[in-house]
Amino acid sequence: MNNEILCTGDIKKVLEILAETYPDAKCELVHATPFQLLAAVMLSAQTTDKKVNQVTDDLFVLYSDAKHMAEADPAEVERIIRPLGMYRTKTANLINMSRMLVEKYGGQVPEDQKLLEELPGIGRKSANVVMADAFGHQRIAVDTHVFRVSNRIGLVHEKNVTDTEKALMKVLPEDQWTANHHRLIWHGRKLCTARSPKCDACPLRSICLKYGMDSR
Ligand code: SF4
Repeated sequence: MNNEILCTGDIKKVLEILAETYPDAKCELVHATPFQLLAAVMLSAQTTDKKVNQVTDDLFVLYSDAKHMAEADPAEVERIIRPLGMYRTKTANLINMSRMLVEKYGGQVPEDQKLLEELPGIGRKSANVVMADAFGHQRIAVDTHVFRVSNRIGLVHEKNVTDTEKALMKVLPEDQWTANHHRLIWHGRKLCTARSPKCDACPLRSICLKYGMDSR
């Protein structure tokens, strides 16, 4: 056995414990439609879901769908999303993405991973989130939390997010990819934080390969 990865039995235990600990884990970006989720995910780069929700609360009143966003005044969008940082780039991406949705897909968000990744400002992780949480497909969107937590626990042992996604797809049951992705994110936010993980309070401490490691 590779001692940098847990055995199958321990992976099963980890998944059971995560399911018990985070029974309500779900996407925390507030949205009413696939377009609003797509926009919120794009805005969430380098900031928190909480801040995105505060901003989209106002943004979606004015620009609730792709058609309205495509015709938005960039200065007005910049003013609203400024608290999120990178607001000029995000505004340009948001408006260009909306124009593309209107021109190519009648204002609808395509239910297609590849087409989503062609939209301005949307990469593989964001497309995975939309496929999972807007359209109900099983996906593992590897963000900073999923990457850090799954490698610390020993579910996988990989150097980058792309390989981590591929490896997780092999070790996690496919019908629970999305649920486990949310549970890993919640665990990363609440206990297995980037700095000073709360190992002594962690329900995975008897299994995790990095239990009690120094904060880093
Ligand atoms: S024991 Fe520590 S490093 Fe391991 S999952 Fe829990 S908090 Fe993270």
